[in-house]
Amino acid sequence: MFDLNSLNPQQRKAVTHKKGPLLLLAGAGSGKTRVITCRIAQLRQQGVPAEQILAVTFTNKAAREMAARVQEVVGRKAAKGMVIATFHSLCVGILKVHIDRLGFKKNFSIYAAADQQRLIRDLLRGIGAENSSKAADQVLWRISSAKNHLIFPDNYQPNDRDPLSSLVATIYPRYQKSLKAFNAVDFDDLLMFTVQLLEQHVDLHKHYCERFQYQMVDEYQDTNPVQYRLLKLLASTHGNLCVVGDDDQSIYAFRGADIANILDFEHDFPGTKVIKLEQNYRSSGNILAAANAVIKNNQKRKEKALWTDRDAGSRIGYFLCQDGEDEARQVMEQIHTEKYRGQLNYGDFAILYRTNSQSRAFEEQLRYENIPYVLIGGQQFFDRKEIKDVVAYLKIIQNPADEVNLLRILNYPKRGIGEGSIDRIIRYSADKNRSLWKVLQQVDQVAEMNDRTAAACGSFVDLIKHYQKRFKQPLWLLETLQELFTELKLAKEIYRQEKDPQVAQRRVQNQEELLNSMSIYLERTPQPTLAGFLERISLFDDDAPGKNDKESKLALDAVTLMSLHSSKGLEFPVVFLTGLEEGFLPHKKSIYETFDIDEERRLCYVGITRAQKQLFLLGARQRRKYGKLEQREPSRFLSEIPEGLLHEFEGEQPGNNAPEDEAASASHFFDNINQMFED
Ligand code: ATP
Ligand code: MG
Repeated sequence: MFDLNSLNPQQRKAVTHKKGPLLLLAGAGSGKTRVITCRIAQLRQQGVPAEQILAVTFTNKAAREMAARVQEVVGRKAAKGMVIATFHSLCVGILKVHIDRLGFKKNFSIYAAADQQRLIRDLLRGIGAENSSKAADQVLWRISSAKNHLIFPDNYQPNDRDPLSSLVATIYPRYQKSLKAFNAVDFDDLLMFTVQLLEQHVDLHKHYCERFQYQMVDEYQDTNPVQYRLLKLLASTHGNLCVVGDDDQSIYAFRGADIANILDFEHDFPGTKVIKLEQNYRSSGNILAAANAVIKNNQKRKEKALWTDRDAGSRIGYFLCQDGEDEARQVMEQIHTEKYRGQLNYGDFAILYRTNSQSRAFEEQLRYENIPYVLIGGQQFFDRKEIKDVVAYLKIIQNPADEVNLLRILNYPKRGIGEGSIDRIIRYSADKNRSLWKVLQQVDQVAEMNDRTAAACGSFVDLIKHYQKRFKQPLWLLETLQELFTELKLAKEIYRQEKDPQVAQRRVQNQEELLNSMSIYLERTPQPTLAGFLERISLFDDDAPGKNDKESKLALDAVTLMSLHSSKGLEFPVVFLTGLEEGFLPHKKSIYETFDIDEERRLCYVGITRAQKQLFLLGARQRRKYGKLEQREPSRFLSEIPEGLLHEFEGEQPGNNAPEDEAASASHFFDNINQMFED
């Protein structure tokens, strides 16, 4: 049982609201997520069956935490059957059962960025267009954006004045056609196809409306049109949709999120009850004051008066660092001091930045100082070549129609199927309109195929078929994966290809991490399958192993490194908001497109409001770019924080090449900011 008295009156109103649309529009740290969690428990305690409850959150981590908390309150048994998921995993769940209605097989693959890239580049090559990775990214970005707006290839309209759009109009239908042939879908398809399924099949629509009688959505301010459409469909019969969000934390417009979804909710769902929360329970007074001071500079927003009854707490530390390396050193220094002073754990610290590439200097320093850390996002663990190679095997074992991955491993590790032979196999498959997998099984029919190559293709097919059988045994998933590693001799191949033995060793260790990932999956999953594992590693990149080499357990006490975007909804006792410079935050893209400055300010606000007790702001005077030092200007957002809330914290003295001493640099810091505003 949970105690309704632990909530404030407004929260209680939201938690006990039973039927009809509900909008909780409230500021950071005011308990929105907590309201959802409590409301789920409350519904269960009032006898609503678990199966009727659906909660959608933004990250897998958030979904897992929410599920754990609900379970704690209502008990394991009472929680069984409810769906607490991200949009993507909800859609995978629906598609797994019904995707055959769209002409796919149920063992479909999910293509992540790297697979998509390979496919698009192939298609670009096929039409003789420039097939650089930049061109592929641009096309993919446009396709993704079309899908987020529910624009299918047939409805995609190129614009005469936009040459890229005509290229997209050519590639998009081909891309969809190939995906279908490979029995694969991409991330955006997961949502688009689910909407399509519900729109085209009345029985399914009815089924899911009845199934999910009570829906709750966290971070609603960041929903895009396809997500909005999905929610609208699911809520169309009962209207029990409860959404919570904060317009000040809308940070995904660049990916098609539409802030109007939250601002127009009352209009779109007539009879909506609106509840506002204004007390912040997360942060100490100074941190909240800084957050309020920054966000009030945004023009278009619903005015909120967030307050806290907490102490002011320490002032916000700021430091203008010499360069990126110095910034990393200052952060380490503060971690040591604060950890000792506040009796904290490493897990109490988070280092936040605007772009993932900023993590490098921190990672190096953390490794150097032997501090365990978890890197979220960035060079995704599953994006590393050595991991993709093994995962490609698993994908082919699961779905041999997946030609992007089939071609990746057909001759990896080398088994004597040369490029010429592969070309002939591809050509034959295109001429006969047969899948590559089929052709490989009848490779003797392909002209000019020598016996050795044919035998190699035969043993490849046998290998895949053998593991298809082996992986069907859920009890032996881990052992089978281990067997596969041994059989493929991947470590040997890595040492052969990689000249630097240390790099080779790291890459082999990374592959071993995959075994850890499988064993964690097995611990967490009652009915494990290979498909389930692949689904997890395709969707759950936010809990991929990615910490320093010394540690390999996921649940370790570690400093968190992540981008501001990934930090949404989370909280940490101590937060370092780094790279507070023009060009990083606000990001330079948005400086040129001035309408985006507000979104950058919201990002800054999200960062500040993650901190519970201590916030440190850092920026550098110069940074290395392409090996050269570049001068940096402090972020305009710094000047929006009243000086009285800040204090300079002592860091290392800059090296001999420092242009000026510390004290001077601190005042210079503010001069710079003020000057920028006078400009
Ligand atoms: P964000 O906007 O960052 O997503 P949020 O509005 O979802 O924040 P929560 O994460 O739910 O806020 O809550 C912030 C913190 O305040 C949590 O630690 C939560 O446990 C605590 N909290 C929320 N409501 C109360 C309350 N009534 N009493 C005490 N603590 C509370
Ligand atoms: Mg929240």
